[in-house]
Amino acid sequence: MAEIGIDPYQGFAAAVLASLRGEQLSVAPEDLQTFAIDQGPVTDFHEPAAVVWAESVADVQAVVRAAAAHNVPLVTRGAGTGVSGGAHATAGSVVLNLTRMNTILEINAADEIARVEPGVINGDLNQALAELGLMFAPDPASYKISTIGGNIATNAGGLRCAKYGVTRDAVLALDVVLADGTLIHTGHRTFKGVAGYDLTSLFVGSEGTLGVVVGATVRLKYLPTIVRTLAVFFPDVQTAAAGVLALGSARVQPCILELLDGPSLQELDFRNGSDLASRGTALLLIQFDGLAAAQEEALAIAAVEELGGTASREDPAEAQRLVDLRRNNRGLDVDAVNRVGEDVAVPRSQLVHYISALEEMARRHGVDLNVIAHAGDGNLHPTFSVPGMDAISVASLNAALDDSIAKALELGGTITGEHGIGQYKLRWLPLEQSEQVLEIQRSIKDMFDPQGILNPGKAIPTA
Ligand SMILES: Cc1cc2nc3c(=O)[nH]c(=O)nc-3n(C[C@H](O)[C@H](O)[C@H](O)COP(=O)(O)OP(=O)(O)OC[C@H]3O[C@@H](n4cnc5c(N)ncnc54)[C@H](O)[C@@H]3O)c2cc1C
Repeated sequence: MAEIGIDPYQGFAAAVLASLRGEQLSVAPEDLQTFAIDQGPVTDFHEPAAVVWAESVADVQAVVRAAAAHNVPLVTRGAGTGVSGGAHATAGSVVLNLTRMNTILEINAADEIARVEPGVINGDLNQALAELGLMFAPDPASYKISTIGGNIATNAGGLRCAKYGVTRDAVLALDVVLADGTLIHTGHRTFKGVAGYDLTSLFVGSEGTLGVVVGATVRLKYLPTIVRTLAVFFPDVQTAAAGVLALGSARVQPCILELLDGPSLQELDFRNGSDLASRGTALLLIQFDGLAAAQEEALAIAAVEELGGTASREDPAEAQRLVDLRRNNRGLDVDAVNRVGEDVAVPRSQLVHYISALEEMARRHGVDLNVIAHAGDGNLHPTFSVPGMDAISVASLNAALDDSIAKALELGGTITGEHGIGQYKLRWLPLEQSEQVLEIQRSIKDMFDPQGILNPGKAIPTA
């Protein structure tokens, strides 16, 4: 372990190393580089001063106490798959890496709960639960690589959220290390519980700015044994979006309801050698689960065919392939200044209108666009891109992004459905929330973190 050479880090490192092994703290250039950013666009690059791997709650407490004593900003990090820059290092910060805290502490099938450390990978928990016929329902497309702690801190959504809700709906209780190193426990092991203010919900989605989540009690659901999957191709993306409302009117409840436009299908074909674009201009990928799946599927086919959709029932292998293709639609791409994937959500009744508006914006600003959406939730991921990194191209891209945000808000939507504000979306938050609401959030931040050491400059804009 190299020495940290810059004050106040010498004092910080000495304090940390009084409790942790030397191997748990690194200032090696490759570590500082690896853990400098997540997968969000980078607008203000900083390498951290050090990276610390906590292995226990006591380690986290020791690190937070050292940071408080030496006024060192801490960026808590799970797998670093966030796409809003929430885990980007900031000036002078230390990255607190929780991936080694990856033990499933308890699975209680009778109570239908699990207790986990924050670094447990979502997919690993689900693999363990599947043996018992249970699941942790929130399934961000990154579920094979992202941590439960990160899912909680971002209130992650996913494909199954159309039926089962987002991460907040699955979190019953949290263990949290506060900014002074105190450990608190919020919530309850029971499904119900209304004692006091709901601090558990406050921590969910707080992006590491209010405390460090060091343990979670989550609610489980039954892993469905009957699943039916439909691929419905439409002649245009607007009609596919209208299909979402048609399914709602048919009063069927898909567990997965994803929309992919023509350019997204072409990109998937290009990357994976599939033939999706030859089957139609836009796709609704629809899955039903549970004992009524076949009945719901029949009602859904009638509803989408009335709109001109071509529905095909997919066998389990093809269904899995299509869902995997959708989950991997980003490929290995990381957002950059010339390619930004958005995360707006609009009321479902506005989906058709919003998608048309996006296409018009892309044409007007001369940028490329593809749209995928967790359509059942009205949550869209339009990706705008330009070939060049020159100032004019990037300005066009940013103008399109700004317009897409303004339009989503005009239609009653939000600037982020599931990825969080992080660093990248700070500039848009005042467009959605009034100064009074922002001020309340700043006072909450001040109360939990008076020194401002927990992930500063993220989630809420400073005054
Ligand atoms: C291919 C791909 C697909 C994706 N699909 C989805 C999707 O479908 N739905 C979705 O919602 N997101 C998706 N994401 C975004 C990302 O995976 C999620 O935001 C995920 O929840 C982040 O988890 P993580 O472990 O990587 O957290 P990180 O990126 O490490 O951190 C995310 C934020 O949480 C904070 N944090 C992390 N752990 C803790 C903790 N224990 N205590 C306090 N704060 C903490 C960090 O400081 C940061 O602000 C996708 C990303 C990729 C790359």
